[in-house]
Amino acid sequence: MSQAERFAFVGWDIQPDGCWQWRGAKVRGYGRIHPGASHHEVLAHRVSYIVSVGAIPDGQYVHHRCANRMCVNPDHLQLTTARENTAEMLRRRYYEARIAALEAEVLDLRSQLTAAKPRP
Ligand SMILES: [Zn+2]
Repeated sequence: MSQAERFAFVGWDIQPDGCWQWRGAKVRGYGRIHPGASHHEVLAHRVSYIVSVGAIPDGQYVHHRCANRMCVNPDHLQLTTARENTAEMLRRRYYEARIAALEAEVLDLRSQLTAAKPRP
């Protein structure tokens, strides 16, 4: 079986958010396709890209715009360089940390308001 055939054979589940959730194995959070005789690790989203868009140029990465590493929806994939990929990941981490900090502040303010409220 070729990689493309294994890809189609294992398949995916379409999620409400539009992600195609890989049904197969996982490696480092990514969907994995059994390498067969090659012993080369094959990532499902890369095969999805190759099957629906075309070859991945040397030095380019297939990046998840949806941040879901198990997603194989070609519409959620785009080519990036390693540098762009890292920059995007760092930006995402920054925003996630910022959101967590703001949520903690909101909870804190809420509890202060509750404590300050005069009892009827
Ligand atoms: Zn997705």
